[in-house]
Amino acid sequence: MGDLLLSLSGNSVSRGMLGMVGLPTPQALLREEGPTTSTPLHDLAIEVSGGPLATPLLDWLPQTGASLVDHQRSVDPQAEPVHGLVFDATGVRSCEELKALYSFFHPRIRQLARCGRVVVMGRRSTDADAIESAAVCQALLGFTKSLAKELGRRGATANLLTVGEGCEQSLRGPLCYLLSRRSVFVTGQALDVQPARVPLAGMGTDLTDRVAVVTGASRGIGRATAVRLAEQGARVYCLDLPDQAEALESLAEEVSGVSLPLDITSESAASAIHQAVGGTLDILVHNAGITRDKTLARMTEAFWEQAIHVNLVAVHRVTAELLQGETLSPQARIVLVSSIAGIAGNLGQTNYAASKAGVIGLTQAWGQQLQSGTRAINAVAPGFVETRLTAAIPFTIREGGRRLSNLGQGGQPRDIADAITFLASPQSTGLNGSVLRVCGGSYVGA
Ligand code: NAD
Repeated sequence: MGDLLLSLSGNSVSRGMLGMVGLPTPQALLREEGPTTSTPLHDLAIEVSGGPLATPLLDWLPQTGASLVDHQRSVDPQAEPVHGLVFDATGVRSCEELKALYSFFHPRIRQLARCGRVVVMGRRSTDADAIESAAVCQALLGFTKSLAKELGRRGATANLLTVGEGCEQSLRGPLCYLLSRRSVFVTGQALDVQPARVPLAGMGTDLTDRVAVVTGASRGIGRATAVRLAEQGARVYCLDLPDQAEALESLAEEVSGVSLPLDITSESAASAIHQAVGGTLDILVHNAGITRDKTLARMTEAFWEQAIHVNLVAVHRVTAELLQGETLSPQARIVLVSSIAGIAGNLGQTNYAASKAGVIGLTQAWGQQLQSGTRAINAVAPGFVETRLTAAIPFTIREGGRRLSNLGQGGQPRDIADAITFLASPQSTGLNGSVLRVCGGSYVGA
């Protein structure tokens, strides 16, 4: 069943009634439809201010289609709403200078549009840095997470990008994604941007001629991902269990891709992928996953084994074999699907949480190994997403999953698909070994 409170909140009369009886009134999120164009921020008013990164961004942002708001204007709360507020705090070096955040955001925050975006940029703190820089870096995170909580009921988001030297180019892709209507369910998060290892052409969102494999593609998040990658031009191999062949065939036809019925836990899965693709693979998305929930005392050995094998053992084996062989292209991007349960743990999910935490371990370790080359691996950690997997959860737990977040609602499969597509594209060239939570600012493990 869909989200009744979200539907009722869309109508001003029922929204008022919900508010009167103290029920949540989540804000309908504004999502971008169709393929990402060469002007992904078209018609969005963005204001940029702060330190040394602000000036080059002011030169570049109009290329994304954004209209710039003059940051030297006198702020008028009655003026047109601003979609995005970007503040470069990389020049903030002392705790006292954090006041710059207050000075910029305090007069402007009421002017932020419904479903607007805040992005703070900060300097990555390194071992060699002074103690105070480390405090500043953490302070920026605390500020951003709190602002995300304050903005959630308006459907707006706030996120932090940390950068080091030489990240001016690679910063643009993540910034563009976070400002766009493709990142509706990402809030209260920090992403660490590295210098680009692969040169960027245009906005880096075009995937024409890229070959992709998406596991667990027949429904839910996997299906939405196959559709999004194909929209951006990729040729998608849609992989799922052989008993899903019919759904796979129809998806493959819809996205002009290829159906690949295969159990990802089979020992020959990597060679079957290699044979099916018959050339090089540019994008590998490990989305297939299962839950086998029971408290540990009640959990059968079979439940333990199934969750660990599908969610972790298969991901490890297939990726390791493909990384060793010739299948993955030199600039291949791998995206693993974890879960916030893998970050925070969850009652009744010792097996699932172990497997999804293991996926984070794989992402970080392989990220380090790949750092010297041009391939990259990253992960998404979804929160509560409206799919068959979560429809099976008991009502009260399902309601908790939806409401206990900044945005007060579950995500849609396409929100995760958008995040995966971002991580699968050259747009995210500065990201490697990262775990991006796409959870609406879920309080679970936040
Ligand atoms: P889903 O159950 O709708 O889809 C999972 C797909 O994986 C199915 O099509 C299934 O047939 C396929 N699959 C299962 N075992 C397989 C195997 N051995 N080989 C090949 N395919 C196999 O699930 P979903 O909600 O779309 O979740 C997708 C991913 O996102 C999973 O990894 C899940 O753990 C993760 N996730 C989902 C949520 C959520 O709220 N829905 C939250 C966090 C993480």
